[in-house]
Formats: sequence, structure tokens, C-alpha cells
Amino acid sequence: MKPSWKHFYPQIKTAVLNLDSLDSLLQQAVEKIIALYQAECLLWSGLELGVADALRVFTTPATANRYAASLGFAYPPPPLPHWGGTEPHDTAVRQFRPRSLPHWLLDQQNLPQLLQLETGELIIPITNRGSLFESDAAGCTTANSLQFVVQLFRSTAPLPHSTDAPIETSSIAGSTASMTTATNCTVPIQGWSLTELESLEIICSQLGLAYSALYWRQRLEQSRQQAALVGRISHLLNSTLNPDEIVGRIVAELGLGLHCDRSILVDLRHDPVNTLAVWDHPGQELPPLDQRQIRQAYWQNVIEMFMQGGASYLQMGLNEPAADPLQIWLHDIGAQSVLVVPLFIQEQFFGGVALLAYQHQRTYLIDELQTIRQVADQAAIALTNAQHYQRLWRRQEALRMQNNSLQRAILRDELTQLMNRRSLERELEQLSMAAIWSMHPPFCIIVCDIDYFKHVNDAHGHLTGDEVLQEVAQRLQGQLRRGTPAYRYGGEEFVIILTDTPLDQAVEVSERLRRAMRSAPFVTKAGALEVSASFGIAQQDPSCDHSAWDVLQRADKALYEAKRQGRDRVYALETQG
Ligand code: GH3
Ligand code: MG
Ligand code: MG
Repeated sequence: MKPSWKHFYPQIKTAVLNLDSLDSLLQQAVEKIIALYQAECLLWSGLELGVADALRVFTTPATANRYAASLGFAYPPPPLPHWGGTEPHDTAVRQFRPRSLPHWLLDQQNLPQLLQLETGELIIPITNRGSLFESDAAGCTTANSLQFVVQLFRSTAPLPHSTDAPIETSSIAGSTASMTTATNCTVPIQGWSLTELESLEIICSQLGLAYSALYWRQRLEQSRQQAALVGRISHLLNSTLNPDEIVGRIVAELGLGLHCDRSILVDLRHDPVNTLAVWDHPGQELPPLDQRQIRQAYWQNVIEMFMQGGASYLQMGLNEPAADPLQIWLHDIGAQSVLVVPLFIQEQFFGGVALLAYQHQRTYLIDELQTIRQVADQAAIALTNAQHYQRLWRRQEALRMQNNSLQRAILRDELTQLMNRRSLERELEQLSMAAIWSMHPPFCIIVCDIDYFKHVNDAHGHLTGDEVLQEVAQRLQGQLRRGTPAYRYGGEEFVIILTDTPLDQAVEVSERLRRAMRSAPFVTKAGALEVSASFGIAQQDPSCDHSAWDVLQRADKALYEAKRQGRDRVYALETQG
């Protein structure tokens, strides 16, 4: 069956109902037009955005090749091979990005009209005139603006089946809402029959409507995604993540959400500038960003502009005529374009968020810019928090250090560096706590007192006495496990608490300590001295002890007994229970 233009409508309707992408709608339309009219077809889309880098041409590679010299088409990356290993055919419609625009297209943007170029191409502009759409907030689609242009070319003109007389553009202008023509244009159209033009007109107006529906749906979806992005970032600010992680996540969300190749957050206040966070698109192999490459000199104009409050963002492309140091930077890092949004922290200029495009020059829509602005404001809040956080952290750290040395000073004995009496009191208090008091097995307390220490002082002086105290402390602690401290309880008295130790083992430990005193003479400045000590031990006995102080008191009693029995010995007080 010969394909008819009437088959076109169901296909368009299905595309709209299925919420197909705009790209697939246009691609299918071009394929259909090529098949129906046996013509070469180029469909110029993205015109409503008013930015050159949004332009796409849908056509076959063969046609693109024919126009490549004049328009400098940039081929998109090759599509993946189809299942079964067959390469996409040369006649399959693909998207191309033109490097330059034909003159007639610029004319069409000013005054859309159906016409035939001198070179024979039929140009059919599709505008949104007559549609409900008014100029939107973003200013991207103004009433009567061009949506896309279909460019048709048939090398054999007229075709054999075309028997109609040549058509004048003015005669079809009145019958189509989406085609506009200059009222005084009476140039006949060669090579196309009236029937063909009429069917083309219907196809193009239907395509225009479908395009509008899908275009607005796509924009709505983008707004929804951007609102979700802003929501996620607000959420992030309230998270428990540290400031570095938050800033890192912000650039990642921006990069992903705005589909750019690399996003960075940079502190521009000093030279060299400080890159705080970098996000690279995971699917791109981008040249690494060298810190040194981001010198302040490149950004000088940008910084001045932002500081003067002249702009809320800056877009800069490699191909733009304005010569700016930032373009040299773009060139140096191998990027095509950058969008910079400034960051102010407490009204002081801080730096910016920069979104980089490496594949081709990228322009952002107004609503995308608004989203970036909002996210940048949130990044500024995160950075303000980070500054507070850092200050707070530093203060806390200083306090902690102070506290540690204070604690050490409070709990240690200066002369012997053993734990002091205050520390022992804390420990006794802990052991007396109800939950610990009844723990099994019971603990033992050893009290140690140097024998005849007064003699040392009297015979050799207090400094020698101090030396002996230090040596006793070392010998005691040297015999004990890590985690079992010896305390200096008083002048020449020491205490050791042995938790989880039965009395017989405590006696063994005390004997070891006693022997340690006698093992070798004490070497002092006054000469070698023989020193001994006596040890009293008591085991916790809940039947008579009400607290650890009671145990200590009984250990003291035992010590007294050791002294009484002749010193240099260990005496353990049997429990009363
Ligand atoms: P005993 O065998 O009965 O324990 O006899 P002792 O001489 O050791 O007993 P006493 O309690 O009479 O003497 C303790 C001495 O320890 C008295 C005091 O001058 C001395 N002393 C206390 N603290 C220090 C100190 O920090 N340095 C020095 N050098 N001596 C101290
Ligand atoms: Mg004493
Ligand atoms: Mg003594």
C-alpha cells in the first residue's frame, strides 16, 4: 500500500499519548516525510529557545553530508550498534548539531513564512501562532515564535506524478494556521503539487500541536525535577553530614540535575583560588582539573562584575566574540563553556559555583538558571554553617586540649607522676556505686608505706627523700599491669586497687611489690640506699564494708599490723565474714 499522509496522524497521536520524547517525535516525523514525499528532509528544532547551541537538525547522515560543507554539521557520538550487530543505516534519521546557521533560517526567525529557496528547497516554518501559549515566564517561547522549520528538497522537479500547476505561496498561506507568509509574495513553488503542499500543511500543523504538547510536558517535568533537586539540597543542609560532604553533595546534585559535564565550587577570594569541591560526570572522561589552572587572574573580570552586584550569573563560551580571560581558562582546561553563579557569605563575596560543558557550548534556560541560583544560595548557607562549624570545632578542640592537660594536672601527682589522692577518691567512689559494689569477685586494696622514711629525710635531706619516692613509684608501677594504677595516697604511702582479684592473689602481688623494693639498692645522689616497704591488704567484704573507704580503712589496719610485726612484710587482714 502506498503510504499516505493520512497515516501520519495516528502516529503523532500515539507519540503524544505515550509521552514520547520530543526527539523521537521529530525523528519519526522526518522519517515519515522522507518516505511519503520521496524528498530529502532536514528538520530544524530548538528554535524556540533562542540560543544557538540548542539547535538540532534531524536528518539522515546522507543528507547531513550533503549540507556538511555549508553548515558544518557536527556529528553526534555514534549510536550504539543495534541488536544483532547491524549498524544504523545511512538513511536512519539522526540528530545533528549545526556549527553555523543558514541565512534563510535567521530570516525565518524574524518573519516565519513558507517559501522556496533559489536552490530549490521548500522551507516550511512551524510556529506556535494560534496556539494557547503565551510568552512564558522564562521568555523562551513568545507568541508566534518559531518552533521548528522543515526543509525539503527534491532533486528531480517536478516529479512524474505531480500534475498540478505550480503553487504560489500566497495561495496556501490563508489555509494554514501554522504557516505564515509575506502577503506580497507571489513566487511560484516548483516541483511540488498542490495536493502535496496541502497534505504537508496538515502534517506540519499536526506536528506543531504535538510538539507543543510534548514540549510543555517536558518543561513541566524539568521544573518538577529541579524543584526536587532544590528540596533535596535543603534537606542536606539539615543533615548530620560534615560541611565538606555537604558541599561535595551540592556540586554533585547540581552537575547531575543540570546535566553538565563538571561542576565546581570555588573560593575566589585568594590567589591561587581554592577549589572546595569538584564533581565530574561519571560517564565522561574529562581532563583532570589542576588546582593551579584556576588562577585568580582568569576570574578577575567575573569577580569585579559580581562584587559590583552587576549580575547574578555569567555564561561564557569559547566561541563567543567577547575576549575575556575566562575564555583563556576555558581553553586551557579544554572546556567549551561555563556558567558561573556567585556565592556571597554574609553579604561578602566568597566565590562561585561553575558549571562546565566540555562537549559543546552550553546555554541554560531561565528556569534552570533560577534553580542554580537557589542551589547556590543554599551552598552559601552550607558554607556559612561550615565556617561556624569550623570555628566551633576549633574552640571545642582547644577546650578539649586544655581540659586534658587540666585533667592530667588534677589527677596526677607531680612528684611521682602516679595518680594522686583525688584520683584515688574518684575511684573509691566509683567502686562504692551500687551497681559496681556487688560485682564479683570482690576487689582487694593494698596500702604500701615506706619503712623508716623519716630516716631517709633526716639523714640525706628532703631532695634525696624525693628521689626515693620517685624510685618507689616507678618500682611499684613497673610491677603492675597496664590499667592497674598505683596511687600516691599521702606522703610516702601508696595504694593499689586490684579488681577481680581474690585475696591470695593480692598477697602474691604485694609480695612481688615488696621484693621489688628490696631487689636492688636505690641509687640516689646521696649514694645507694637500702629501702623497704610494708604492705597491708584487705579484701572487700560486703558483710562488713559499706563502701570502698571501709575496705581502705581495713587495709590501713593491716598495714599497721605489718609495721607492728617488724616492717618489710605483707599483712592481709582476713575477712570478718
Ligand atoms: P614507718 O616505718 O613507721 O612508716 O616510719 P616512717 O618514718 O616512714 O613514718 P612517718 O610517718 O613517721 O614518716 C613519714 C615521713 O615522710 C614524714 C615526712 O617528712 C615524709 N614525707 C612525707 N611527704 C614527703 C615528700 O613529699 N617528700 C619527702 N622527702 N618526704 C616526705
Ligand atoms: Mg607513713
Ligand atoms: Mg613510713
